[in-house]
Amino acid sequence: MNQNWEFSLDYYQLSLDTLDTALKTIPAYKSWRAYDPGIRYPVDTRYQVMPALTKKDIREYFPNGFVPPEVNIQRGLDSGEISFVNTSGTTDDKVTNIWNQKWWDASERTSWKLNAHASRLATGEHPEAILVNPLNVGIASDTVDLPMTERRLARFLYLSERTNYTAWTDQHMDRMIRELAVFKPVILEANPSLLAKLSRYIYESKQTVYQPGLIVLTYENPTNLHYRQIRRVFSCPTCSSYGTTETGYVFMQCEEGKFHQNTEFCRVDFQPLKKEHGGPSLGRILVTPFHNDWYHLLRFDVGDLVRLDTSGKCACGRHNGMILSATEGRVVNATLTCAGRLVTSRELDIKLSVIQAIDEYKLEQTTTNSYELHLASREPDKPKLTASVTSVLKGLYGKHAKISVIHEDFIAPEVSGKYRLAKTLFPVNIEDYLEK
Ligand SMILES: [Zn+2]
Repeated sequence: MNQNWEFSLDYYQLSLDTLDTALKTIPAYKSWRAYDPGIRYPVDTRYQVMPALTKKDIREYFPNGFVPPEVNIQRGLDSGEISFVNTSGTTDDKVTNIWNQKWWDASERTSWKLNAHASRLATGEHPEAILVNPLNVGIASDTVDLPMTERRLARFLYLSERTNYTAWTDQHMDRMIRELAVFKPVILEANPSLLAKLSRYIYESKQTVYQPGLIVLTYENPTNLHYRQIRRVFSCPTCSSYGTTETGYVFMQCEEGKFHQNTEFCRVDFQPLKKEHGGPSLGRILVTPFHNDWYHLLRFDVGDLVRLDTSGKCACGRHNGMILSATEGRVVNATLTCAGRLVTSRELDIKLSVIQAIDEYKLEQTTTNSYELHLASREPDKPKLTASVTSVLKGLYGKHAKISVIHEDFIAPEVSGKYRLAKTLFPVNIEDYLEK
């Protein structure tokens, strides 16, 4: 593969120091020492032979297994330097992490350098409006409306206190539009499915909305459908920021639309899928954060698929670190064709988004050859829409695919508060799809 991107000497040094510290002093990696071929081997090789760290491992070793024995977690909690945070989700997905605000902020700051608009606008003091589920971040209240002053925290304004956004009323969305005009955020950070929902309302109610300097989409993988709905009412620049609670800011989309690695704050190891499933440019990533003295993670399996940019170049001129042409969605959102080929949620979205009438969808693959598509749309002619999506899905999954289309008023998010656009109702082990 043609990889023109470069890694600095600092990056290799950080990779090496982080690996050596973890293997020598961090209890969670004691059993990993057996994999290490030793310091005579290149650092990339030493990383490649190590296992992946899973959420199950985090649950097993949390919290003392992730710091050197001399570091006292309780002291960090008492001083307020760190706290424990729970990620929402199903039992398999749920995990408690060590939250280090200072490190998180520093990781965010370096990610801004990777987008010209962010590096021009973001000062760390700039007013920022946030439209996300309060289950993820913010202040929740489902019974009482909180006034704007009670949804302010430092330089942030949380636009909604509702954890259930299928219950957003017109008045609730009118309030968001009003508050954007009053607060005038430099940056609007949003969960793409929520901003798409607000954007559909703005468009249908023929309103105009305050244009922030930049929209940063985060928490979910934005889809073509989201972008189409958002761009009908927001003309300001938009970028997607990719990261996780565990790893901080990992990739930032630049002004030219490609994703650049935040090399000052993390190492990324790429594992390609087999050729028949989209490899070698499609694969999963394992992330090793740098500089977090309170939480030493090595090769954490973030559970996402990405597509490497095969040209290895970007028109923005940045060439330091890995370059992606796209993030392809969660591994758990992948489905399979009737022939067993893996389909990422981005691939599905590209196919479905050609149908203009779709507002929201969720695809559930119930067996190896049957698929249930739940659809919310403004199309009055439902049989016509059913025929179009059936034809698109058969084109993707195979002519023998059994497709059922169920029309809904809206699509509900998962218990985590995030939308899941696709899934199989049977287990799929990603390890079986990786190139060995
Ligand atoms: Zn770029």
